[in-house]
Amino acid sequence: MTTLLIKGGRVIDPANGMDGIADVYVENGRIASIGSAPGKAKLVIDAAGQIVCPGLVDMHVHLREPGQEWKEDIESGSRAAVAGGVTTMCCMPNTTPRLDHAGVVRQVIERARQVGLCDVLPIGAVSRNLDGKELTEMRELVRAGAVAFSDDGLPIWNSGIMRKALEYASTFGFLIIQHAEDLQLTGGGCINEGRISTQLGVSGMPSVGEDDMVSRDIMLAKLVDASYHVAHISTEVAVELVRRAQAEGLKVTAEAAPHHFDLTEEEVLGYNADAKMSPPLRTEEDRQAVIEGLRDGTISVIATDHAPHHEDDKRCGLSCAAFGIVGLESLLPVSLGLERNGVLSMSDLIATMTINPSKLLHLDSGTLSEGAAADICIFNPDETWTLDRNKLFSKSRNTPWHGREMTGRVTHTLKGGRVVYQQGEIRA
Ligand SMILES: [Zn+2]
Repeated sequence: MTTLLIKGGRVIDPANGMDGIADVYVENGRIASIGSAPGKAKLVIDAAGQIVCPGLVDMHVHLREPGQEWKEDIESGSRAAVAGGVTTMCCMPNTTPRLDHAGVVRQVIERARQVGLCDVLPIGAVSRNLDGKELTEMRELVRAGAVAFSDDGLPIWNSGIMRKALEYASTFGFLIIQHAEDLQLTGGGCINEGRISTQLGVSGMPSVGEDDMVSRDIMLAKLVDASYHVAHISTEVAVELVRRAQAEGLKVTAEAAPHHFDLTEEEVLGYNADAKMSPPLRTEEDRQAVIEGLRDGTISVIATDHAPHHEDDKRCGLSCAAFGIVGLESLLPVSLGLERNGVLSMSDLIATMTINPSKLLHLDSGTLSEGAAADICIFNPDETWTLDRNKLFSKSRNTPWHGREMTGRVTHTLKGGRVVYQQGEIRA
């Protein structure tokens, strides 16, 4: 018996080239069919005027559990995720302890299951303690449930370790994700190096600190024929390096974070620590290059780099403030700007947050294919609302979009056919 019917929405499933008004039928937590009624529904969601798409897949979040639960934990992060339409997220390994051994990876997955709102898929650490000196037991981490590897929070700075990691990745078919930052060049910096850093009298992080590491990594990825992914790409040169690597046929991919295509370094004027993150907000030229990368497909994924921090870590002056902003609840409305500005079609935009990351990570999420888990995001693309950081589901408030008018709002999130978020409320 059909248990749920989502009626009359514009159904967009990029994985199947679907974009049209249709009904979606959900049975036993899975997509039963789209368009034709196999039976009667117990529950009907009226989606007229709304877009019905796969639940979003965010391949880059920091959940702070274990170790810094006052900033975020798996439960609050899961609530923020489903409020943002996200049903699968990958969490980065820079927790305390690090996600560098199987026990911690299992613990995160188990905790997320108990919470039961959103799939949390750990990204295992490349190096023990993220110190870049010794590889983790990557195969054990994969057996425990890690879906890719990174030292994010920090770069994989050691070329020898990076080469070995890429070799393993190539042999066993998983992805190495790089936070590309040459600490020798950026160390001590807190915002983009340039006009604004000079004006404010704070030390800068030059864009070449991202470019040189992406360049080195591409050469290593070519050498060992591995899959390599640039996290939160932010510079004009780095985008061009990825574009050329792809033209050469290398398995090089990149993701962009909404703040890097929506904002520039101007945001930190007034010493605004809620606009401080790594890599930093850059120039208008860099922002345009990221947008161009999204337009031509060089950058195939949008991911938040959701990085919650307590007020105490942000209200201590720009130079000492922690890096990072929360992003799960602003992901969709900020990204929808790309569709309104004609950069991407609605279907291509949704692909960057669903099937594209799922394919990179070999996940079965990110699609409304018949038989797939009914992880679904329903949103109103035209609804306007004002982002209020005090109303976020995240435990942290560090967003540069506070008070900003947003267009586009998630109305329902379904996980495995269950409504877990509806009109401002979490339904546990
Ligand atoms: Zn990072």
